[in-house]
Amino acid sequence: MSLAKRCIPDYYFKSIYAIDYQMLKEQGVKALFFDLDNTLIAYDETQLSAHTLEFLNALLEDFKIVVISNSNYQRVSKAAHKYPFVWHAAKPMIKGLKRALKKVDEPIEHVCLIGDQLMTDMLSAHRFGCIAVLVNPVKRTSDRWMTKINRIFEKCVIKRISKKYADAYAERLKEYVENTL
Ligand SMILES: [Mg+2]
Repeated sequence: MSLAKRCIPDYYFKSIYAIDYQMLKEQGVKALFFDLDNTLIAYDETQLSAHTLEFLNALLEDFKIVVISNSNYQRVSKAAHKYPFVWHAAKPMIKGLKRALKKVDEPIEHVCLIGDQLMTDMLSAHRFGCIAVLVNPVKRTSDRWMTKINRIFEKCVIKRISKKYADAYAERLKEYVENTL
């Protein structure tokens, strides 16, 4: 499978709050792996808001939750200590996803990764073999320099997807691009 194809999300929603979790449940999803930066909080925030905590806690009735981030221990533990978490996940590599999988004790097919980046979150999810849900970044302008570089590559990949996979682009990426780039 081409790199571009692996970066195409299985589903797109505006934010973690807009995701159709019932649909994911019906698809057999038992564990949700949430990216941290710009998925649950902006880069310039350090704590999950009370609203986000309440929302995630309600999801625990139906799903296991792991927060999986490329950020360091200090940042991830401070923000996500209420849940199992993985730091230095090194997405788009899959070693962090393997660590996260051990925490939920579910087969890969029962896992859904939710994140805001194609080149790290979507790509790692598809390399790993789980479902990939894309959301808009919480606060686009707060991207760190690493992410800004990723976004340049992301633009190239998006261009290729829009040419080669026009239907998937229209369905799952157009709105993200309009909101993000
Ligand atoms: Mg992110």
